[in-house]
Amino acid sequence: MSFERVQEKLNILADAAKYDVSCSSSGSNRTNTNKGLGNASNSGICHTYTEDGRCVSLLKILLTNHCIFDCAYCVTRKSNDIKRAAFQVQEVVDLTINFYRRNYIEGLFLSSGIFKSADYTMERLVSVAKKLRLEENFNGYIHLKSIPGASDELMREAGLYADRLSVNIEIPTEQGLKLLAPDKNRADFIKPMEKVKNEIIQYKSEKKLIKSTPKYAPAGQSTQMIVGASGENDMQIMYTSNYFYKNFNLKRVYYSGYVPISYDTRLPQIGTPVPMLRENRLYQTDWLLRFYGFNIEEILNEQHQHLDLDIDPKLGWALRNLHEFPVDVNKADKRMLARIPGLGMKSVFKILHARRYRQLNWDHLKAIGVSLNRAQYFLICASNKFETRDLTAEKIKGLILQNTKSKYTSMLSNQLNLFG
Ligand code: SF4
Repeated sequence: MSFERVQEKLNILADAAKYDVSCSSSGSNRTNTNKGLGNASNSGICHTYTEDGRCVSLLKILLTNHCIFDCAYCVTRKSNDIKRAAFQVQEVVDLTINFYRRNYIEGLFLSSGIFKSADYTMERLVSVAKKLRLEENFNGYIHLKSIPGASDELMREAGLYADRLSVNIEIPTEQGLKLLAPDKNRADFIKPMEKVKNEIIQYKSEKKLIKSTPKYAPAGQSTQMIVGASGENDMQIMYTSNYFYKNFNLKRVYYSGYVPISYDTRLPQIGTPVPMLRENRLYQTDWLLRFYGFNIEEILNEQHQHLDLDIDPKLGWALRNLHEFPVDVNKADKRMLARIPGLGMKSVFKILHARRYRQLNWDHLKAIGVSLNRAQYFLICASNKFETRDLTAEKIKGLILQNTKSKYTSMLSNQLNLFG
C-alpha cells in the first residue's frame, strides 16, 4: 500500500472522526511494562482541546467511514454522498506506532462506521488494540468505541486491551432515536454498556484475590450525546445522563453540540449555529451533579426544563433559592459551601481547612481564590465589607453580569473552564 493512499485514508478517516468528542483520556493507570512503548499512567496523556472544545491529544480516527446504517445526524450515514475509505488493521497499528515514536500522539482513539455487522466491525477494532498491546508492546492510551449490538465475547476482549470503552447514546430519548436513527435501538447500546460495567466489577473483585488478574478497561466507560439535533430539552438530556451515570457506572458523559451537516427536514437547517453555550451549560450541570452534591431535580424539573444561557446553573439555582442564603463560611457544612456561587470545590476544601485556625474574612477568601464578584451576595464572613442585603434575584443577577461580561464571553470558547 502506497504512502499516498494511507495518507489519503488518514485525511478522510480523521476528518470523519472529528464529530466524536468522547475522547478524554483521563483516569487510566496502565503502566509501562516490559520496556514497552508508551505509558498511559503518566499524566503525559493530557487533554488538549481545540478552540471549540474538541479533544486533540490522541490519534483520533475511524477504522472506516463505510456504514450500513443511515443515522440522519451523522456524516458517515450510508445515504451521504462522500468519499469512503477503510483502514486495514495493520495500517492503524503502524500509524499509531509511527505517530507515537514521532511524539505526535500519546494514544489512540479508534471508532468506526459499521461495515457488514456490529461483530464484524468490533472484531477489527479489537484486533487493532490486541496487536498494539501484544505485538508492539504498546502501553499508551487506547480508547475503543464499542459498536452497538456487539457480542458479549468481543466486549469482554475489548476491555482487556483498551483503557477506555465507550458506546455513544447519541440521541437522548428513544423517540428522538426512532426519528433520526431508525436502524438503532436503545437495547443495542445498553447491552455492551451492561457487559462492560459487569466485567469491570468482576475483574476488580478478582484482582483483590488474584494479583495477576489483568486490568479490564481501567479508565472505565463513557458515552456521548448530541445536543440540539432532535429537539430534547435540557431536562430530558440531563435525566438521561443521570440515568446512565447511575446504572452503568460511567466515568463521563460528553455533550456534543450538533453541527448541521445535512439538508434534512428532521434536523436543524444547515447554517444553524452549533449550540456551544448550551453544551457548556450541560457540562456545568454534569459537574454540579458529580462533584458538588446537587440532585438533578434541584436544577432541572417540570417548572424549569431549560438551563439559563446567560448564567451558569449554580448561580441560577442560588438565585431561585435566595432563602438558603447568606451562608456563613465560618460555620456552614461542605454541602452548603459548595452551593455558594463563586466557590469551586478547591476553595471549599481550603475554607474547611483554614477556618480551623482562624475566622475567615473577605481578604482570606480572596487569597483562597473565591470569586468575590459572585460570592459577595451569598455569604457572610468575619467582616461586613460587602454585606448588601435585601437585593432581589434580578438585581443580583444584573450586578453579577455587569461585572463579568468578558469572562462570560470567553467561556464560549472554552467549555472545560467550568466554574473558574
Ligand atoms: S451507526 Fe454510527 S457511523 Fe453509522 S450512521 Fe449511525 S452514527 Fe454514523
